[in-house]
Amino acid sequence: MTPSSSDQVYNRSQAQRYTMSSCVFCDILAGDLPSSVVFEDELVSAFMDIQPVNPGHVLIIPKQHAMFLADLHEETGGHIFRIAHRIAIALRRSDVKCEGVNMFLADGEAAGQDVFHVHLHVFPRFVGDGFGLRFGPEYGNKPAREELDDAAEQIGSQL
Ligand SMILES: [Zn+2]
Repeated sequence: MTPSSSDQVYNRSQAQRYTMSSCVFCDILAGDLPSSVVFEDELVSAFMDIQPVNPGHVLIIPKQHAMFLADLHEETGGHIFRIAHRIAIALRRSDVKCEGVNMFLADGEAAGQDVFHVHLHVFPRFVGDGFGLRFGPEYGNKPAREELDDAAEQIGSQL
């Protein structure tokens, strides 16, 4: 089979269409959906969240589709944080109401991920904005040192 056969071209475009239509962030990157872009370069795009926690809520995403952190190249992950760092500083310098900044990344449905294309939230906070984190019932129970050491060993051995 030759690579230039019309069947293969057709199949490739079908596959691309499927990938695009299944991911709202890829649709935004493709220009099929509107976005208010804060910053972009060859690796990442940063744009305004359409459902902000507070005004000034920015999302930073890799340009290459990655569902989870495990699918994301480490260099790109580092770059996402570099841009988030700059945006957090820019938020404080801007006229947006900003007394503090949160960054939030949900990796997996259990963590609250709703769009399965890695994205880092950067949003301004101010006293009385109503946003908060809710802790589970076990939060107050401090684990024994050996439990912490065991967890450290288990996680560290997988790095
Ligand atoms: Zn995507």
